[in-house]
Amino acid sequence: MTAHAADPHSYADTGKFVVRHVALDLSTDFEAHRLAGTAELTVEQVDPAADELVLDTRGLEISAVHLVEASGRERVLAFELAEPDPILGARLSIGFPHCCAATSQMRIRIAYRTSNEASALQWLEPSQTFGAKPYLYSQGQAIHTRSWIPLQDTPSVRVTYEARIRTPPGLVAVMSASRVEGTWPAGEHAFAMKQPIPPYLIALAVGDLRFQALGDRTGVWTEPSRLAAAAREFADLPRMLEAGEQMAGPYRWDRYDLLVMPRAFAFGGMENPRLSFISPSTVAGDRSLVAVIVHELAHSWSGNLVTNATWDDFWLNEGFTTYLEHRLVEELYGERRAQMESAIAYGELVRTIEDLEKAGRREDSALHLDLAGRDPDEGISDVAYQKGRWFVSFLEERFGRPAFDAFLRAYFDAHAFQSIDPPTFRAWLLAYLKRPGAPAAPAAEIDAWISQPGLPATMPKVATGVFEGVDMLASDWRAGRVATGALPVKDWIPMEWVRFLDQQPADLADDRLGELRSTFQLGADGNTEIALSWLELVIRTGYEPAYPDLERFLLNTGRWRLVETLFSELARTESGRALGERIYAKAKPGYHASIREAVERLLYPEPGRAASQ
Ligand SMILES: [Zn+2]
Repeated sequence: MTAHAADPHSYADTGKFVVRHVALDLSTDFEAHRLAGTAELTVEQVDPAADELVLDTRGLEISAVHLVEASGRERVLAFELAEPDPILGARLSIGFPHCCAATSQMRIRIAYRTSNEASALQWLEPSQTFGAKPYLYSQGQAIHTRSWIPLQDTPSVRVTYEARIRTPPGLVAVMSASRVEGTWPAGEHAFAMKQPIPPYLIALAVGDLRFQALGDRTGVWTEPSRLAAAAREFADLPRMLEAGEQMAGPYRWDRYDLLVMPRAFAFGGMENPRLSFISPSTVAGDRSLVAVIVHELAHSWSGNLVTNATWDDFWLNEGFTTYLEHRLVEELYGERRAQMESAIAYGELVRTIEDLEKAGRREDSALHLDLAGRDPDEGISDVAYQKGRWFVSFLEERFGRPAFDAFLRAYFDAHAFQSIDPPTFRAWLLAYLKRPGAPAAPAAEIDAWISQPGLPATMPKVATGVFEGVDMLASDWRAGRVATGALPVKDWIPMEWVRFLDQQPADLADDRLGELRSTFQLGADGNTEIALSWLELVIRTGYEPAYPDLERFLLNTGRWRLVETLFSELARTESGRALGERIYAKAKPGYHASIREAVERLLYPEPGRAASQ
């Protein structure tokens, strides 16, 4: 393991101790919204003189800490929980008596319970699920795992884990781990993760869950009423996994399953290893939104296998993953669709960079960020994903595709199950570029991508002509040269719909909007991406007849990108903001805490205003 610069988002001192394994024994209390039990950490002592183990926690109530000796004998250890920092949480220091500090590996058992406001945990009310049963899920990324497990919560550390989870009878627990079969008492579930992962990938969900296999190594978990639709939607999963292996090398996590979540799930997808958590908004009925699945699957290589050592370099996870996503979409669904996704993503990247500049945050448009003192959830943007992806595409352009594919496989092989920082990445890349036959890519060009804000001179050319036909139709329709009923929407994929709607101006007349709405049943339902673009247009034009649809949509989803997109559009005008406040008052209980914060930043930019709500 390479030595890394300290992680600004963790109290851990990995020069003294490194946590190698975590054994959890936790009960889920759906009434109190708490997990309670023990975490036993296997800790390796790196510095023989060290006598204090420091861990990350947030909101945890620690009741006891024990050293478990090889003989099984237990010894009480003194501990101290410091005053919490608003971003990092509270430092937990555990002192070792002199006798024990010399053992190279030791087991430390911590008895604790989580806060009922743990930032990693979202406890859903039965009314928020499809089957009206209680539901719990965890989201560790970026620095939330410490709110349900005391450990070294930095992606520079990798752990294996095992867990015993106790749930109310009738509910099923799943984790980012393999299920340990056995005869457990009712309501007990056992798991083991034998591949070492960064702590943010330890994940748990509990609900009324069923499983359907989609192949030897793949399958889908979800609530019973959604299982058939999810299995139909993601039937391509085995083919996706094979395509991923063709491109990036062997799949090293044994199984790849999906967990399709309730609507309140805050993300499009979260790449928890072996079991990606997926928003139900991707179940479009026509397999048109599977790019999210392809993205989460691609994390099986970039992110989960080779991991950014700190959140300052989130681009090492997301840039490579977004590149792989693009390649897999091209492979599985054709070049045209891949080009459309690229053109849309490029437009969004340009807007993000402009917005960062306007907000006085130009330096945040570099790939490598300085997030010290900031919450990584706030500092991270599209840039890590899309600029990161174009950096990888730039390398592909230099290498040529076949040579670049060999480079990619070599990169994943060389760094499998390791965490990586930019100096390590840069040195490895530059050494690779010295091989006979490798292309020229001077260090200065690479450094411009990694360290400089904005888009560098070596930005690849993005094919934007792919929307010319739709753009022409959009302006012809607006000018009355093409009738609404004559629009060739049957041939459109959702991205063409999105483009058509995005092209419409804010002064589009109500009767034209009404025609679109009634002819194509635009509203809160159907394909999520089309509904989102339609509702953005509704807000942009102030088209009041569709406001009830907007409200229904915002009440029916808790997915960050959808919620934030619509509330930012609403926050642009005073009347929009007033409507936003009314809808938010109703939608708020269903949103994840971090989304509430994001929406409140949009609706109540002056500090203190939200408090009066
Ligand atoms: Zn990702």
